[in-house]
Amino acid sequence: MPSSILNADLHCHSVVSDGTLTPEALAQRAKANGVELWALTDHDEIAGQARAAAAAREQGMYYLTGTEISVSFIGATVHIVGLGFDPGNAAIIEGLKRTRGGRGQRAMDMAEGLAQVGIHGAYEGALRFAGNHDLISRTHFARFLVDTGVCKETNEVFRKYLTEGKPGFVEHRWASLKDAVNWITQAGGVAVIAHPARYRFTANEEFALFSEFKAHGGQAIEVVTGSHSAAEYVTYGASALEFGLAASRGSDFHSPDESHTDLGTLPLLPGELTPVWDLLESRIQ
Ligand code: AMP
Ligand code: MN
Ligand code: MN
Ligand code: MN
Repeated sequence: MPSSILNADLHCHSVVSDGTLTPEALAQRAKANGVELWALTDHDEIAGQARAAAAAREQGMYYLTGTEISVSFIGATVHIVGLGFDPGNAAIIEGLKRTRGGRGQRAMDMAEGLAQVGIHGAYEGALRFAGNHDLISRTHFARFLVDTGVCKETNEVFRKYLTEGKPGFVEHRWASLKDAVNWITQAGGVAVIAHPARYRFTANEEFALFSEFKAHGGQAIEVVTGSHSAAEYVTYGASALEFGLAASRGSDFHSPDESHTDLGTLPLLPGELTPVWDLLESRIQ
């Protein structure tokens, strides 16, 4: 049986970052949807890893440790997923802590921008939706603005308030690409470029991302993800082959109320690609 037909879901979020389910509820949902190999990949945070691994064991699923690191690259934000690293490694623990560190001030600045267009109390409001106060994110602001009736759905909040040029957007400096890849690989894991189609890079910019990522030791890209269209599976499958990178699959599930792609429900990886989990056999729990 080629390992590409395994139902692996290696990208999702819990209440430890900007998801709405606990690690245990996610594990249960993944299992119910047929997931065989799972990873919880909270943004810039690994505090949910022990619970997720234990819950996966309880459900009878294989598990890989995971996180999704926020990175600044040529003036844009790029997400790098780490899989199979040692969660006790001091360098990745410290690196993630530093990456999370700026979020509190950023959130206060975002609230100030929103106050200027008449939306008051957004910092406190967003915090009420954050399961982990160290990890306040734009998603929590979006939930607050939906809750107070300013917008109908989170997508609309992002479009009107939280993206570049909009009142609640704040420029932020995240980790460097090099640091993020090094933290993951030096802790025994594999670095993966998350949802490459989302960045809207030019061909040259994308080439720079893929080649620099590879030069730093990155080994995979997400091909089948909730953020890609079927046409993009084909485009990025071809990129994986062209750059000699393995391929990953993950729903990027955040919430039953918000996510259009559920855990474990995406198409399988195309058979000609090397699944990222083939590089991580010794790290699977
Ligand atoms: P942050 O790390 O605080 O910048 O928040 C980024 C998160 O916001 C992403 O991981 C998504 O969960 C969410 N997000 C980004 N863009 C959108 C969008 N257009 N609609 C809904 N959620 C979004
Ligand atoms: Mn998110
Ligand atoms: Mn992401
Ligand atoms: Mn994600």
